[in-house]
Amino acid sequence: MSMPLLSARHLVKTYASRRGAFTKPTLVKAVEDVSLSIDKGRTLGIVGESGSGKSTTGRLVLGLEDPTGGRVTFDGAAMPGLKTPEWRGLRRRMQLVYQDPLAALDRRIPIGEQIEEPLEIHEIGTPEERKERVAELMRAVGLRPDQASQYPHELSGGQRQRVVIARAIACGPELLVCDEPVSALDVSIQAQVVNLLRDLQEEHGIAMIFISHDLKVVRNICDRVVVMYLGRVVEEGPSDEIFSKPFHPYTQALVSSVPVPGTSLTDRIILEGEPPNPASRPSGCAFHPRCRFATARCRTENPQLLTVAAEREVACHLLGPAQVPASIAS
Ligand code: SF4
Repeated sequence: MSMPLLSARHLVKTYASRRGAFTKPTLVKAVEDVSLSIDKGRTLGIVGESGSGKSTTGRLVLGLEDPTGGRVTFDGAAMPGLKTPEWRGLRRRMQLVYQDPLAALDRRIPIGEQIEEPLEIHEIGTPEERKERVAELMRAVGLRPDQASQYPHELSGGQRQRVVIARAIACGPELLVCDEPVSALDVSIQAQVVNLLRDLQEEHGIAMIFISHDLKVVRNICDRVVVMYLGRVVEEGPSDEIFSKPFHPYTQALVSSVPVPGTSLTDRIILEGEPPNPASRPSGCAFHPRCRFATARCRTENPQLLTVAAEREVACHLLGPAQVPASIAS
């Protein structure tokens, strides 16, 4: 078996949260015991509602935040500490595509210079070679090289995200973490940007972690999917299986909102209530207040993530190893 490009084991991220100026801070777990891996050239989707910990997980695997517990390895080596020289060296191999392109770009600097910046930081090429590379990158993302002198505010939202992507791939990264890369764009533009990411990935063999609450996009682009709820992984498996036969009740509800050809889930499952606040996590299975299958055990005992079928892991008391009850499987 080949070594994954990136592997995260038992990641934990805890923040101190204070409810008022005179109260003691309490520790809130944004991410709890999250493990995942991604192979070279593959795409892993991380899905879940807001507050599920998916963006924090993305930042942890990129080393943009140090985990409170657990470890990340990239290409077989432990992730160096934040802002160390080793970490800076690794940044050219791993890049983040942000949700909001306007926030990711500097409004005062022409876009050509912003695309060139990572090449300068990593001292790649001569000034002339860098200019050529910027033109090549702009063409690769569907922009004209003569737009290099334009400023971000002169571009549309979709064009700005193309600039962000050009900058992210400038140094030839092996891994892109895309955090809601199309959610700030018009629906008409979203498909173009998703297709661009997929084309670039195929052409350059880049591995991609695609963080999104939009399951339609994830279904189209990802090989595997991790489903998170309140900081924990509740289901993981190949994308086509997750979407055609979701096992976890939470995944079933998410998937039911997306029509999937061939699925047996024809009725939308409405999730009652909002996801709980991580600062007041429910006892037992955190999903139990919203779960249509909850039992007394679910209120007291947290289910472990278990392998229930080939390449499928689920955290639910109703599912044991190779054991999928009919009530949940249909
Ligand atoms: Fe629902 Fe219980 Fe399974 Fe949690 S453990 S998803 S509450 S059935």
